[in-house]
Formats: sequence, C-alpha cells, structure tokens
Amino acid sequence: MSWEKGEQLYEGKAKRIFSVKGKNDVLWQDFKDQLTAFNAQKVEQLSGKGLLNCKITTLIFKYMQGNGVPTHFVESIGETALITKKLDMIALEVVVRNVLAGSTAKKFGIEEGKPLEKPLVEFYYKNDSLGDPFMSDDQALMLKLASPKEISDIKILALKVNDLLSELFKACDIRLVDFKIEIGRDASGHILLGDEISPDSCRLWDMKTSEKMDKDRFRRDLGQVKEMYQEVWNRLQKNWSQYV
Ligand code: ADP
Ligand code: UDP
Repeated sequence: MSWEKGEQLYEGKAKRIFSVKGKNDVLWQDFKDQLTAFNAQKVEQLSGKGLLNCKITTLIFKYMQGNGVPTHFVESIGETALITKKLDMIALEVVVRNVLAGSTAKKFGIEEGKPLEKPLVEFYYKNDSLGDPFMSDDQALMLKLASPKEISDIKILALKVNDLLSELFKACDIRLVDFKIEIGRDASGHILLGDEISPDSCRLWDMKTSEKMDKDRFRRDLGQVKEMYQEVWNRLQKNWSQYV
C-alpha cells in the first residue's frame, strides 16, 4: 500500500507524528536520532539511533502480533518510519520489572540488580510538566484515565508482553530487566499496544557479561550507546529473522 505523509501533528522527544493524507485512522511515526533523559534535561543527537529503534520496534511489534498481542503496527515505511493505527492514548506509562533497577531500586534503597520473585507492574502518569510521577491504580481511576476493567486488562497485557519479551531477549542472551509500554484505545474501544519498544524504553543486560545494552549507557555516560543498540539489533535479527 502506498501512503502519503500529511501534516506534522506532534513532535515528541523521540518521534515526530504526522497524519496520512486521505486516511483518518492511521498515523505516520518518524523515529528521531535524539536521545533524552531525566525529563529531557539531558539531550543529545545520535546519528542512526532512530533507524535502529525503528527496526527493533518493528521486529518486536511483529513478534507481539504473531503471538496474539494486539498492537498499533500497520506497516514499515522506509528505515525510520512506521504507519500505525491512530489510538486514543491512555496517559499512563506502564512499567514492568523483573529485576530491581532505576527509580524503584533507588526509592527503596535497594541495590540495583535484585531479581524479583514475580514481575512488578507499575503505573506512572504520562505528563512531562509533572515529571511522569508514580501513580496507584486508584489514582488512575480517580483521574478517569481508564475504567476499572481497562486497568485490569492493561495489567494482564503488560504481563503477557513481559513473558513474550523476556523469551525474545533470552534467545539473544539478553536479560530483560524492565521496560515501559504505552497503551491506547482503537476506534472500537479495544486496548492495543502503542508507541515503541526499544533500548530507549527497556533495560537490557548482557546475560554473560551483565553489560548494559540500553539507554542507561546514555543516562550514566557509559559510552558506546550506538554500538550497544546495534548489538541488540544484530542479535534480534539473527535469532528472530522470521520477524525482520
Ligand atoms: P514523548 O511524547 O514522550 O516525547 P515520543 O517522542 O515517542 O514521546 O512521541 C510519540 C508520541 O506519540 C507519544 O506521546 C505517544 O504516546 C504517542 N503515540 C504513540 N503511538 C501512538 C498511536 N498509535 N496513536 C496515537 N498516539 C501515539
Ligand atoms: N522508561 C521509559 N520512559 C520513561 C521512564 C522510564 O521508557 O519516561 C523506562 C526505562 O527505560 C526503564 C523502565 O521504564 O526501562 C523503568 O524506568 P525507571 O522507573 O526505573 O526510571 P528511570 O531509572 O529511567 O528514572
């Protein structure tokens, strides 16, 4: 199918969103080379990052769809863009953790790297001006971000994504420490996995060396950011060629 890019609707930290001419139910999403951290206080351009995240997201979303997870993915357009269904996004960042790291480890004074007995699902309010604060289920209901049924369905979906993603990365000798997803409603009100899944939105540790292969390399000035994103892509491509 051929798609014609329309007007820019939104520019975010990692993507630009465009309309598609003559189509009301889809969006054109361009992946940017920009890296940001700490609520965009730290910003850098990394040539080729958008391309890698677009390829990684595409493979992961095809894999999710192939395994029964409904997603917004429609088609890849060139190397840095996707056509997706247009969703009514739920203003939640849904984080799933298998190993304690980052904000939750810090909050409870626990050393990074503690494996959890069962995966932890957390909600953050997606609101840049408030710094994406943690929120409870009841707070999400209070703000009417989602219905009680949707909250329950979102958690089930997040845990299914976690199982599938853990398996996907395990085959690549990568440990899935944690990740963030975003969810939205399609025109019939069904909840779908939206946005992206990439080394920008996951913590990925090499199973053999424990080396970080994700955005923490940028957050913590560890260097070799692009090389590690490339390595994640190389391993995914090699082990999951059916989804390339
Ligand atoms: P941010 O807004 O956090 O800076 P991005 O730069 O990644 O993030 O921008 C992408 C924006 O598009 C996000 O606000 C995200 O919630 C939204 N989005 C992602 N997928 C869809 C979709 N299928 N329909 C509508 N909006 C989407
Ligand atoms: N995350 C994300 N976007 C955000 C916040 C977090 O993609 O705005 C991802 C992050 O990369 C990590 C997981 O969600 O994989 C959990 O992040 P955490 O809450 O530990 O926050 P951080 O340490 O990034 O402050």
